[in-house]
This record gives sequence, structure tokens and C-alpha cells, in this order.
Amino acid sequence: MVNIKSMDQTVQIIEDFIDRGRPSQVITLNAEIIYQAQHNEALMKLINKADLVTPDGIGVIWAANQLGFKASERVSGIDLLYRLCERAVFKGWRIYLLGAAPGLAEQAGEELKRLYPGLCICGSHHGYFSEADEPALIEEIKNLAPAILFVALGAPRQEFWIDQNKSILGVPVSVGVGGSFDVIAGIKKRAPRLFITLNLEWLYRLVSEPSRLKRQMVLPRYVGLILREKLRRKNTASR
Ligand code: UDP
Repeated sequence: MVNIKSMDQTVQIIEDFIDRGRPSQVITLNAEIIYQAQHNEALMKLINKADLVTPDGIGVIWAANQLGFKASERVSGIDLLYRLCERAVFKGWRIYLLGAAPGLAEQAGEELKRLYPGLCICGSHHGYFSEADEPALIEEIKNLAPAILFVALGAPRQEFWIDQNKSILGVPVSVGVGGSFDVIAGIKKRAPRLFITLNLEWLYRLVSEPSRLKRQMVLPRYVGLILREKLRRKNTASR
């Protein structure tokens, strides 16, 4: 279930999670993952039990509106990350960055500290670790005790990783943020502002990363899925 909240409300909910201290998982959901979840029961269960699910992409906003929920604002992983880092300076939250190719999480951390002076990045680690490396990595994160763990391993791997490890890590909030560190570190460009404003960020990514074409091939089927669900709800209501 997606929580249809604005960015401000989302940041407030996450602040409450941190105050509460119990490990919480935040999923920034897009259409591709919703489609995958139709054929992946474990993923569907995981999405439904997450503490907070935000609409990462315009496909989720469109679906929500088709199904009768009022939604207008995207809450994407990267925008949420920036907003939480801004808030972290004020609140004194410590941040850990896990994911992306070797060196990039560290580079993204440096950039975030430049953008938000006073921000505490208490640690970072790349996302190409083996199973054998995991116990030491988990121990490191546990000992550093961040308030927020951003995990950039790509969806849905990062969501499963958080689900599996959140209790042992004891971090109040873990958020899956896909390719955000690549963008923050400057090795990938985000779409120009105009594309974002016109809700065409997906098109920009498709053109700039043609390798994503295969993943985005599911989008027409996603549209069909949502329209069938809309019809089903209409028929049920008129009975
Ligand atoms: N990645 C990683 N470990 C892996 C596979 C991928 O850390 O084993 C990183 C990859 O380097 C990239 C991110 O995960 O930084 C995935 O980015 P993408 O834009 O594909 O995210 P998605 O759209 O899948 O959420």
C-alpha cells in the first residue's frame, strides 16, 4: 500500500520513526516494482508490510489517481534523501550510506557534506560486497549507530536486504534509494529540471540509459494492469 503523503508529511513521519527508535523500512516505489510484485509474492508481501511506501515515480501517482486516491506529489528516493540530509543537520541525525560502486558512496557523502554543512556522515560502504563480507559490514553499521541508513543496491534487492537485516542493525530508519549515490557523486546526470517538472524524468532516463529499455518494456502492461483494476473496482461498486 502506497502512502499518499506530501514530501513535508513524509519527512515528518520519518522524524517520528527516528524518535520512536524501532527499526522502520521506507520504500520509494515505482511502476516497475509494482509490476514485478504481481508475479513475486515475497516482494508484494514486503511492500505491504513496509512502514512507509512513497510514490517514487509518476506511474505511481497516475495509478493512485486512476484508482480514486488524490495524489499529486512524487516523493522520489533522491529528493527524499536530500530533504532528510537537510533535516539531519538540524536534528543531529547520523547518516550511513551503503551501496553503489567502490568509492561512490564516499564521494556522495563528501558532496552531501558540502551541500549541508554540519551533516554527519558517520560511515559508508560500496554495494558490491559478498555474503562473506556481510557480518563485518553489519557489525560496522551497528557500532556506528546511524539514525538513517540509505541503501543504494538497486530495487528490489535493496528492499530485501533492508528487510532481512533491519532488526539486527537496529537503525531507526532504512530507505532504499536506487541509483541516487551515482547521481550525487556526479557520475550520472539527473534529468534537467524541466523534465522533472513535466513528469518526464522516466523518458530522460530511458534515452540516456538505453539499457533500461528492457525494464521499461513492462510499463504498457502496467498501464493495462491498473486500468483493469479500475474497471474491477467500478464493477464491484455498481453491484
Ligand atoms: N548496485 C550495488 N550493488 C549491486 C548492484 C547494483 O551497489 O550488486 C548499485 C549500482 O552501482 C547503482 C545502484 O545499485 O548505484 C542501482 O542503480 P539503478 O539506477 O539501477 O537503481 P534502480 O532504478 O534499480 O532503483
